[in-house]
Order: sequence, then C-alpha cells, then structure tokens
Amino acid sequence: MKKSYVRYLNLALLIVLAILILIFLYIFKLSDFNKPIPDAITLPKEVQESIANLKPQKVLNVPILLYHYVEYVKDEGDTIRKSLNITPYMFEQEIKTLEDDGYTFVTMSDLADALDDKNNLPSKPVILTFDDGYRDFYTDVFPILKKYQVKAVAYIVPNFLNKPNNMDTWMLKEIAKSGLVEIGAHTMNHAYLSDLPLERVKYEVEESKKYLEKNLGIPVTTFAYPNGTFDNQIIDVVKKAGFKTAVTTINGIFAQDINRFFLYRIRPGARTGQSLLNLLDNPDAIKY
Ligand SMILES: [Zn+2]
Repeated sequence: MKKSYVRYLNLALLIVLAILILIFLYIFKLSDFNKPIPDAITLPKEVQESIANLKPQKVLNVPILLYHYVEYVKDEGDTIRKSLNITPYMFEQEIKTLEDDGYTFVTMSDLADALDDKNNLPSKPVILTFDDGYRDFYTDVFPILKKYQVKAVAYIVPNFLNKPNNMDTWMLKEIAKSGLVEIGAHTMNHAYLSDLPLERVKYEVEESKKYLEKNLGIPVTTFAYPNGTFDNQIIDVVKKAGFKTAVTTINGIFAQDINRFFLYRIRPGARTGQSLLNLLDNPDAIKY
C-alpha cells in the first residue's frame, strides 16, 4: 500500500514538473513571438558624424509626441497592442494637461515653415503624431481632437488601409479634410528601410507620398521612418522625394534645421498632469 502510494506521488510530481516545463516553454515562446521589433533609439553613427561639424542656424523647442494605439484594448492577450496603447480617457487627460499649461497644438508643416523662416511658432508649441493609421485614430482619437479643436499629424501606410485594424479610405479622407489632421507618409508597406536595396527604399518612400497626394488631393510633406530606422542614404531619398521634415523614434526634443530629416520624439505613454509636463521639460531623463 505504502509502496504504491510513493509510486503515485512520484508520478504526480513528474506530471507537475512536465506541466511546469510546458508552461515555461509556452510563456517563453509566446513572449518571444510577441516581442515588438525594437525601435531605433539612438542616432546612427554615420548620421552623427555627418552633422558633427555643422552649426545649427535655427533651434526650436518643439516637443513632438509619439502615439500608436489609443483605445480600450478588447483582447487582453494582445500584448503588443497593450504595450503601445493608452486609453482614450488618458489621452483626453493629456490634451487637457497640455491645454491648461498653455501649449498650442501645431503640425509638422507649421514646424517646417518655422524652420524655413516662413512663420513663427506660438510660444509653447507641441505636436501630436500618430503612427500607422490604426482604425482607433478615427474611432477614438479624432472625436477628442474635434472636441478640443486640437491639431495632430497621422502617418499613414497606404497598403495597411482598409484592413480590420486600420482606417478605411473614407475615414482617411474625412480626417484629411477636417483641417485638424495633417497627413504624413510612413512608406507603402511599413518597410524596415535599412534592410532594403536602394531602389526598394525609393519605391517605399516616393510611392507613399504620391499615393497619398493623389488620393487625398493634398500635399504630403512629412515622413516617419518605420521602426525609426534610417541612415544617410535613406535621409537623402526622403529629402529628394520632396518631404520637408521626417520623424524618428529617438527619444528627445531636437528640432533644428540640421536635423529636420531625423527629428526626435517623446512617448508620453499614460503620463498626465505634472509628470507629462516634466517629461516635456526634460525628456532625456526618461530611459526606454
Ligand atoms: Zn510605424
């Protein structure tokens, strides 16, 4: 009796151990699978070297905020979306914080014009940017922008349009016409540009501009590097395509004439109130 009890106990322990190993493997594999492609967070060395001896003629203090999803995430298992998401409530609080503190919401075109001495920016400018053209920009962000009459910039990937997770063409047309949202290009296919041959880079950059301009009937003059990756050659393609500014995912405030094609951005996350204002005053204090 006692012997068989021990045998069963051993068997039970083995089963528990096997289950634990399976759970471990499952979690490990899952987290690996769900890991977002890391954004570039520092200026590439060759770009750094190319500007090392340049003296900026114009320096502006314009925080550019970077958002992805703003929604109530329905699928609790969607860890990528959850990590990039803030709730519409939080977003509205952030807008209120910035408004109450005297910030004025401007666009990338306003920034380009200021860099070109064509206009002056208000005393406390801020730019809201949204990457990828997710559907929640139309359903959750746009109503808040309209409520507060706040301007923003949406970087669109044409070949993502009309997919379940992304805006339909009619939604894009509506936001583009609203006078509140500037449309920027984000390549045709959300391409990881540093991995592509030059011809392909040109296609992704130039076609996304042409496509959006043709379909929306507006000039598209700002560009966002997918995953923030770029180098001197890619910057050159973006410049020659006729863009006036380009944004990266590098953390910080860095709006000078010499780096208008690799502008830094700040991820506010769910910060509201004083912690958001502190971040805008000192973005380098936050490490990602
Ligand atoms: Zn993107």
